[in-house]
Amino acid sequence: MTESRSSGAAQHTADVVILGAGPAGLVLGNLLLARGIDCVLLERADRAHLGSRARAGFLAANTVRILERHGLAEGLRRRGREHASCEFRTEEGRFRLDYGSLGLGERHTVYPQQDLVTDLLTRYLADGGRLRFGTEALAVLDADSARPSVTAREADGRPVHWRARYVAGCDGRHGAARRSLPPGAVRRYHRDHQVSWLGLLAEAPPSLDAVGYAVHERGFAGHMARTPEVTRYYLQCERGSSPDAWSEERIWDELALRMRSADYGPLNRGPVLQRTVVDLESDVLEPLRHGALFLAGDAASLLCPAAAKGANLAVLEAELLAAALIDDLVRGDSAGLARYSQRCLAHVWRAQEFSQWMVRLLHAACGPDDAALFHNSLRRSRIESLRTSRSQQHWFAEHYVGV
Ligand code: FAD
Repeated sequence: MTESRSSGAAQHTADVVILGAGPAGLVLGNLLLARGIDCVLLERADRAHLGSRARAGFLAANTVRILERHGLAEGLRRRGREHASCEFRTEEGRFRLDYGSLGLGERHTVYPQQDLVTDLLTRYLADGGRLRFGTEALAVLDADSARPSVTAREADGRPVHWRARYVAGCDGRHGAARRSLPPGAVRRYHRDHQVSWLGLLAEAPPSLDAVGYAVHERGFAGHMARTPEVTRYYLQCERGSSPDAWSEERIWDELALRMRSADYGPLNRGPVLQRTVVDLESDVLEPLRHGALFLAGDAASLLCPAAAKGANLAVLEAELLAAALIDDLVRGDSAGLARYSQRCLAHVWRAQEFSQWMVRLLHAACGPDDAALFHNSLRRSRIESLRTSRSQQHWFAEHYVGV
C-alpha cells in the first residue's frame, strides 16, 4: 500500500478496492483480510447509519453455513432464531406450510440485517481492516485496463483517488459501480412488477409464529418476525404513495383487515419505527464483470423482497468472489475470476424465477377485466396446489429456503 498526494486528490493504492459495506462488501472484505489480501472498503454512510438500516431478516441455511465456514456466524448463532413455518391467508381460508420439514428440511435463521452488518463490521475492524466511512465512490475508471482506479469524495469533501488491481462493486443498485459501466459493456434485464409495498417496522412482538402472507382484494399484507420485540409488516400500496400518507391507525386497521384478524386473531400493535415504500422491481446484469470490475449483491442483480433472497445472494456471491480473487492474487490462478459471472448467474436466475413466482402468488389483480379475472383464477389455483399437493409443497420449501 502506498499513499501520496498529487493534483489535489490524495492518492492511495490497494490490491482490491471494495465499494460499499453492506452484506456483500463486508463478507468479501472479511474473507480477503483473513487471507492477508491488501483491501479497502469505501462506504458512503457513517457507522451509525449502517448499524441501524433495517432491511432483510431471513437468512437461508446456506447463508448461515457460509458465515460459519469463515467464523462470521457467532452473533447470529447467539441471537438468531430458527424459523420454519409460513401461513397463507386468502379468501378461501388459511393454511400453514411447515417448510422446515419439507424439501431439503432446511430452516431460516431470523437475524436482522443491521445486526449482521454490525457483526461483520466489528470483526473486519477488529482484524485491522481498512474502511473509509463517509466516503462516496464517484466513478470506477479504466476498469478494462491493467490499472483500474476509483475516484471518491471523503467525508470532509476532499477528493481521493484509489488505484487497484481489482474493484469489487458491492454498492447496490444505485452505486458508482453500475454507473461506471460503459454503454454496451453489460446487458441489463429488467422487470417492473407494477406493485409497490409499504414496508413497516413496528415495535410490536410478532403476532404469529410463522411468516404471514395475506392475499386480499384490497392488496397483499405480510407479517415477518424480526426480534421478540420487533416485527416487519408489508402492505401493498398504490405506486407513488407517500409513506407519510399512512397514519399509524390506518396502518394497523388495514393490516388487521387484510390479515383477517377478525377470523384469525388480533395483531399485536405498537409504534411504527420505520416506514418506506418499495417498488417491486427485479433486474440482472450480464455478465457480472467488466475487466477488473466485479459486481456482487444488489449491484449485480436486484431481487424484489417478495422471496427474501437479496441478502442471501449477496453473501453467496461475496464468498465466490473472495475465493476467485484469493486464487488470483495469492496463486496467480485467474480461472475462478473467469468463471465468477457464470457461476453467480446460475444462482441469480433461479432466485429470480422463484421471486417472480412469489410475486404472482401474493398479489391479486385489480379490476373486472378479463386479464385481471384470469390472473386471479390462476393465483387461486396456484395457492390451492400449494395447499394440497405434497410435491408442490416440497418444491416450495426447497426454493423458499434455498439460494
Ligand atoms: P446494500 O446492503 O445495499 O449495501 C450497499 C452499500 O453500499 C450500502 O452500505 C451503501 O451505503 C453503500 N454505497 C452505495 N453507494 C455508494 C457509493 N457510491 N460509494 C460508497 N458506498 C456506497 N433480502 C433477503 O435476503 N431477505 C430479506 O428478508 C430481505 N428483506 C428486505 C426488505 C426490504 C424492505 C428491502 C429494501 C430489502 C430486503 N432484502 C432482503 C434485500 C436485501 O436487503 C439486499 O439484497 C441486501 O442489502 C444487498 O446487500 P448488498 O451488500 O449488495 O447491498
